[in-house]
Parts: sequence; structure tokens; C-alpha cells
Amino acid sequence: MQDALFIISDPRENPKLLQQTIDCYQKVFGEAPWNEGYYCSREGKSRHFSLKMAENHNYQCDLCGADLLKYHTEKEIEKRIYEQLSGNSIFIAYFVNTALKGFAWSCVMGLADIPESIMNVSPDLGEQREIDKLKNLLYSRGLESVNYGYELGILPDGRNGFKPVATLTRMWLEHGIKQGVPAAIFSTVEKSNIYKLAVMGGFKPIFKSQGGLEFLLTPDCTELVQILSPAADINMVTKLLHRPQLVGI
Ligand SMILES: [Zn+2]
Repeated sequence: MQDALFIISDPRENPKLLQQTIDCYQKVFGEAPWNEGYYCSREGKSRHFSLKMAENHNYQCDLCGADLLKYHTEKEIEKRIYEQLSGNSIFIAYFVNTALKGFAWSCVMGLADIPESIMNVSPDLGEQREIDKLKNLLYSRGLESVNYGYELGILPDGRNGFKPVATLTRMWLEHGIKQGVPAAIFSTVEKSNIYKLAVMGGFKPIFKSQGGLEFLLTPDCTELVQILSPAADINMVTKLLHRPQLVGI
């Protein structure tokens, strides 16, 4: 039996966890559907490759032949973690037998404090003011604060059914509820499993960025947190949501 453990911790105060998170982050987002392993040094981040594809092409762009560079460097991930955890945040680490298999972190903040960096805009994609459009959409819904889910990722060999993703999701959502902020928002790509799961759980896509990120919002995640309680299993959850069987999560 594998021992799964979900721990609230802070990688800024734990160098080993920080390194594990960086490694895990590169592996999770380096493969499909994100394929943010490497990018073409000549064409920029709009042409990017999975870790496997980059290795197969000997770390050279298959179109122009230029060298490939790491999409998310250690330093960038570390900087992001420090910035994003600096507010009213929570970091949840998911271990299986002491190996980090996944993570989630979020931060409760006023709309004015949502940072532009969430748009993940690289200079070659332009459109810096997308963040204002998103904030206006949230203001127009009467929201003042949100629990912003920065990241949630699980390695393929840690997915192990529904429990890991359900537990990480529940824990970052609870962080907002405890502070009277039940509105939760995060971004992902439409092809990801977490997108499907979130829509089933009551999140709605409200904005799509030029870079292809879908922002999903729920004004009140209280019911979803109850559904995702530790006692829930996949059959109960699908029954409660009155939807077909969850596949591939
Ligand atoms: Zn190229």
C-alpha cells in the first residue's frame, strides 16, 4: 500500500520542499496538455515542446533548427513561488512515500491585488492589459476578493484515481472559505482534466486570454467543498453532481 499524505507547508521555509516542488512543476507542465518543457530560442515561447519531444529532437527546434531553452527555469519557478506565497496564501504538498507527487497553492486577495503575471504573457504575445478585462468581469459580478488558485499539478504516477486531485482542490478552496471568501478562480487550458472536473463542480469559464488560458470562476465553492469531503468517493461524487462518470482524472 502506498501512503498518500497531504501537508500544508511553506517551500520558502523548507529548501528540500522548494527543490522538490521545482522538479515536480517542470515535469508536470513539461508534458501534455501544456507541453511547456522547452521553447525555441529563435521563435520564442509561442513555439514550445514537451520534455519528451525536446529530447527526441536533441534539444533543437524541428522547424528552424535553433537551440531549445527550458520553458520554466528553476529560478523563474522559485521567484514565482516566493511572489505568489507572499500574501494570504496556502501551499499544499502531496506526498506518496516521501516523494512529492503534486502540489497546489492559492492566495486570498482583493481584486486590485491580482497580479498581471497570472496572464503568463511573454513579450512575443503582447496584450498586457488583459488583466484589466478579467478584473472588470469580476467587479461586474459584485466580487471584491477572490481565492486565487495559482497552481495545481500532479505527476502522472501520482494521479491514482480521483482522491489526489479532489483533496488538493478541496484544501485550497477551504483556505478561502475559512476567511469568508468563497469565490474561487484559477486558470488552465481547456484540454486539461482539471478543466472538466472544475466545470462539473460548478466553475464557469469567464475569460480566455490571448495566450489560451481559460479562467474559471465559482462565486461560492461551499457546496463543492462539501462534495469533495474526505469521505467522498468517485461514485458518490458523480452521483451528487448528476453527471456521467469522470474519466481519466
Ligand atoms: Zn524554431
